[in-house]
Amino acid sequence: MAHTCIHWFRKGLRLHDNPALMAALRDCKEIYPVFILDPYLHNDTCVGINRWRFLIGALKDLDCSLKKLNSRLFVLRGKPEDVFPKLFDKWKVTKLTYEYDTEPYSLSRDKTVTKLAKEHGVEVIYKVSHTLYDIDRIIEENNGKAPLTYNRMQAIVNSLGPPKRPVPAPSAEDMKDVKTPYSEDHEKNYGIPTLEELGLDTSSLTEELFPGGEQEALKRIDEHMTRTAWVCSFEKPQTSPNSLMPSTTVLSPYVTFGCLSARTFWWRLTEVYQGKKHSSPPVSLHGQLLWREFFYTASVGIPNFNKMEGNPVCTQVDWDTNSEYLTAWREARTGFPFIDAIMTQLRQEGWIHHLARHAVACFLTRGDLWISWEEGQRVFEELLLDGDWALNAGNWQWLSASAFFHQFFRVYSPIAFGKKTDKNGAYIKKYLPLLKKFPPEYIYEPWKAPRSIQQAAGCIVGKDYPLPIVQHEIISKKNIQRMKLAYAKRSTDTADSPSKKKGMQKTCICDGLML
Ligand code: FAD
Repeated sequence: MAHTCIHWFRKGLRLHDNPALMAALRDCKEIYPVFILDPYLHNDTCVGINRWRFLIGALKDLDCSLKKLNSRLFVLRGKPEDVFPKLFDKWKVTKLTYEYDTEPYSLSRDKTVTKLAKEHGVEVIYKVSHTLYDIDRIIEENNGKAPLTYNRMQAIVNSLGPPKRPVPAPSAEDMKDVKTPYSEDHEKNYGIPTLEELGLDTSSLTEELFPGGEQEALKRIDEHMTRTAWVCSFEKPQTSPNSLMPSTTVLSPYVTFGCLSARTFWWRLTEVYQGKKHSSPPVSLHGQLLWREFFYTASVGIPNFNKMEGNPVCTQVDWDTNSEYLTAWREARTGFPFIDAIMTQLRQEGWIHHLARHAVACFLTRGDLWISWEEGQRVFEELLLDGDWALNAGNWQWLSASAFFHQFFRVYSPIAFGKKTDKNGAYIKKYLPLLKKFPPEYIYEPWKAPRSIQQAAGCIVGKDYPLPIVQHEIISKKNIQRMKLAYAKRSTDTADSPSKKKGMQKTCICDGLML
């Protein structure tokens, strides 16, 4: 039977390595590529303007690629469970395909849509291609539980063998007997909305450093893969949180939206490594993709993964509620230039380096402000281009020493950490131009500058730039004690922590070696 299919794009905004799309094209006479702006996922409280711009760019790029195959993207708005029954009837659909998605909301949404599809006599096919492996298979292999250490995870994926090879994008040959029935008024009925049409305030947008879309992703990965020596010697802890140009790939927004397949990324790296000496997991680029897999697996195997309460691996901590501190952190007004510069880069550009994420996450939680990682998670979710449910929750738990990482006595200094890689504070001067005239010895601690220097720099601390909201040396020591108490209360069955073995307690410039 020749089918009339809908391929439902959600993440996976690409044509390459899209096995569900290829399944749609099999025995198909008509295909409708669909994207739905779902009020639950796409509301402007949890999606910042930069991420909206990335999404719209990715959709435009997809439509452009589909046009080259004589097809089009159909963009609709509404709850998928309301939209689909109408489409099934209107287009006389017989098959629905999509990429498998492990987020709790997606799983329940897909269950509802699958039930509706079956009621309409529509066959449903989904394929795994957002992750390197089928996450359920990893859990099965680990006796039904998510591995809680990277080593364990590595052992399991080693036993599974390398990830599947990516499938090629559909060719003109694959599409030769397949039509997309679109009309002249396609733009009006199913076009991609502009940011303005969506009612979004675009006034804060700055230059688009990371434009969305599959073509952009493929161009960027091509460029990175030509840097053979860099790829082979990549060691994450040696990269810099505060370089003026990113010191890592910044492919994360593309992987998050599925403009770039993680498996394509993996196999491109394998090709570069071939026959050459190269770094290894956990610090290599392959290692980074395994971190992603690790947190995805944890997010599937651990209930309430994005919350402290009801999350069995998460240490229960008596975090404070302090809206003044939270707002100061979020709006880059903590008075610590390194922290404020990072939060400014995040707001303006939508991406910050992994170790910069470490610095601000530690500062917000166990280091200085003693605010719940769930609050930080929310802010990152809104502002990061690569905001990802599983990776955001997993990494926040790590950094707040709530789960996976337990050396809570290792606290990042908001002053010393940045100096390691940027002694003169060029990064701070870029993102906080107000401080650009401070001499290097005061750029990380402008409040220590004599009044005359502040005057000469044209910036009086306490008036033009805030005084530090906490005294790091004092508060971080108190917080270590609070953390110690929280750990003491931890139930013994989750206490697999290295900190139990090591009684060591000191504040240090954490060197980020753990990732
Ligand atoms: P590269 O170093 O070039 O790594 C290549 C790819 O590996 C990345 O694109 C990403 O897909 C993956 N990767 C790298 N590091 C990690 C990691 N620690 N965990 C999981 N995957 C990783 N990453 C997100 O993609 N989305 C998030 O919402 C997110 N939230 C985070 C929150 C906190 C508090 C912290 C500390 C980290 C978070 N990360 C998140 C992980 C990491 O910081 C980013 O993936 C990385 O900085 C992206 O930059 P890149 O593409 O240059 O990474």
